[in-house]
Amino acid sequence: MSGNMAENSPSHGNDVTEVRCLVAGEWRTSGERAERQGPYVRRPVSVAHLADEAMVDEALAYAHRSRAAVEQVSPAARASVLERAAELVDARRDEFARLLALELGKPLKDGRGEMVRVADTLRVSAAEARRIGGEVLPTAGWPRGVGSTAMTYRAPVGVVVAITPFNAPANLLAHKLAASFAAGNTTIVKPPPQAPAVSVRLVEVLLEAGMPVEAVQVVHGGAEIGSRLCASPIVSAISFTGSAQAGAAVARTAGPKRLVLELGGNAATIVCEDADIDTAAAMCAATGFSNSGQSCVSVQRIYVHTSVCDRFLDALTTAVGRLKVGDPLDEDTDVGSMVDDQAAARVEQWIQAAKAEGATVTCGGVRDGATLSPTVVAEPPPTATLVVEEAFGAVVVVLRYDDFDQVLEVCNQSRYGLQAGLFTQRIDRIMRAWRHLEVGGLVVNGTSNFRLDHVPFGGVKDSGIGRESPRWMIDDYTVTKTLILRGASLWGESAVSQG
Ligand code: NAD
Repeated sequence: MSGNMAENSPSHGNDVTEVRCLVAGEWRTSGERAERQGPYVRRPVSVAHLADEAMVDEALAYAHRSRAAVEQVSPAARASVLERAAELVDARRDEFARLLALELGKPLKDGRGEMVRVADTLRVSAAEARRIGGEVLPTAGWPRGVGSTAMTYRAPVGVVVAITPFNAPANLLAHKLAASFAAGNTTIVKPPPQAPAVSVRLVEVLLEAGMPVEAVQVVHGGAEIGSRLCASPIVSAISFTGSAQAGAAVARTAGPKRLVLELGGNAATIVCEDADIDTAAAMCAATGFSNSGQSCVSVQRIYVHTSVCDRFLDALTTAVGRLKVGDPLDEDTDVGSMVDDQAAARVEQWIQAAKAEGATVTCGGVRDGATLSPTVVAEPPPTATLVVEEAFGAVVVVLRYDDFDQVLEVCNQSRYGLQAGLFTQRIDRIMRAWRHLEVGGLVVNGTSNFRLDHVPFGGVKDSGIGRESPRWMIDDYTVTKTLILRGASLWGESAVSQG
């Protein structure tokens, strides 16, 4: 399916984007280059010049020297750069979407959606740059503070490392780099090996918008390059998005640094008997398979009340069966390919294992190269790998439940806890779920797969630590500095005379 269609499609062209490392203000070539094969088009689509250890060390030293220059840029100027970059991203949305389709097999509509969010993220970061300040503290409320004034302001941490995953390489880079710059830091970016060209194009846009060269560097490579950056004492904060396993390695390597870890999940969505079943099924179909399910909050486990489960499963299977699978460069495609053949083969194998354990595959389950047809698996055992682990692919599982409080407990049995979805009209259930679900966020009358880029986002348990979204990231990208003025007070100093 994918191979033949790719060869026959004139729209694919034969363009290969070559990208370099950006170190100490210069785009550098290197001795080692990595070629990225497009998972759907099955030809080279980009080539990245890889950093070596010396280049990483040079980037770290330059970042250390550049801190003062970036800190000197006024918040108003930082905000203007980010706003200009948002306009450029809007103007080049189609160009980015094409690159996302080539490097990752992401359908054009998903790619454009990601770029709309990139522009939002840049604008929100600009707004937050304008709000960074401090406060005058109520020192005189306690006896030892009487006669003094204390103030705080938020200062940049200095050098930030931003490590991004493949599945949303543009928006996650925008979150990290824009918030770090908004806070006045210099950032070293380590893009995912699967999407070097998209990542570099976004950095180029920021530079074109006026970001000083001192504020950003890019080093291409894999885990070893990321690890060298994380280990460096020059680095003050690390923002990492990726798998739980790699996140744990980053935490071990980093030692005592600011860490924001945005890791994996196997998100649950609960459908209660009072929900609009057709709407819930349509939303699960749309958000369980966007980007072939390769989203950290993608709908993976759907728990449906037993009284409506058969009806839900029918509606879901019908809606999923209507999704158009195929060429990511085709405007009508809903589901393109996964990131590579191995990822699709892994999920296919998990589906087969669930089937062997008694589950029913109601649609999909067919793989061609990196393309897995959208798959619905009904009632696998709760111990199936497809239920317990992060699938990160074009598959959802449907499981029935009887009791609402029990299903909350079942959801919590996961080692992950990123986000959950809940379809119900009952406020008591909403409040119970909000309180008891072990997740960073709950989406009501929507699935787990929904994110607003200006509200806090992040997980608990193995899904990570810290919260992303510019306002919260800026907390991690700045330090609170306190000034205490002794003998200078804004408030009264005399004691109450004892009658
Ligand atoms: P990955 O962990 O394989 O790689 C992510 C990035 O980390 C890459 O740039 C990689 O080169 C780098 N890396 C890997 N090992 C490293 C190490 N030891 N030290 C430093 N850097 C290292 O993840 P992936 O396959 O690119 O992305 C998919 C994963 O990301 C999924 O688990 C998904 O859930 C997660 N994710 C989480 C969020 C979130 O916000 N929580 C968002 C998107 C993706």
